[in-house]
Amino acid sequence: MTSQLRPAFFLDRDGVVIKVRYLEGLGPADAVVPRFVTIPQVIVLPGVAAALRSIHEHGFLAVVVTNQGYVGRGVVTQAELDAVHEHINAELAEAGAHIDRFYVCPHPAAAECDCRKPKPGLFLRAARELGIDLGRSVMVGDRLSDIAAGRNSGCRQSFLVREGGWGERTLAELAEPPDFPVCADLAEVARQVFSGR
Ligand SMILES: [Mg+2]
Ligand SMILES: [Zn+2]
Repeated sequence: MTSQLRPAFFLDRDGVVIKVRYLEGLGPADAVVPRFVTIPQVIVLPGVAAALRSIHEHGFLAVVVTNQGYVGRGVVTQAELDAVHEHINAELAEAGAHIDRFYVCPHPAAAECDCRKPKPGLFLRAARELGIDLGRSVMVGDRLSDIAAGRNSGCRQSFLVREGGWGERTLAELAEPPDFPVCADLAEVARQVFSGR
């Protein structure tokens, strides 16, 4: 029964939920060295807690889908990554908000797994385990691989956010105008999705 399934907001983690700190001070053309975000470096982006509250009030789940090849490459352990996610939820809890579940692809790109975005593996697993109706769900990310992942998973819409991560770089690298909706941040996405509901 479709009615028993719930829609979800699928959220990329870095650049949507928390700030991508290694981009600080860099221009769009500067080279970037990705770094694993440790607990002291976690900054939940403005408006995220309020957006999550709104997402839950509207009956949606909030599910993070994140590529963390650092785990597969041995840079960090799964336990260290779990601790970061517990910390994010502890910070959100202070504002009465939470992420329902963090789904992680731990594999390096070379492993060619079926869960690294833009592949739909994490979304399909979440849908199975949490009872999600993908066709009523939305994806929010800051890279083209996030947009593609949402589309490959059958999400209704995939949004790009400009602030907090790679969004501006993603837009700057497009050869043509984006064929997906663009918002400033998660709060604006939530307002747009729920306007008129
Ligand atoms: Mg990101
Ligand atoms: Zn994977």
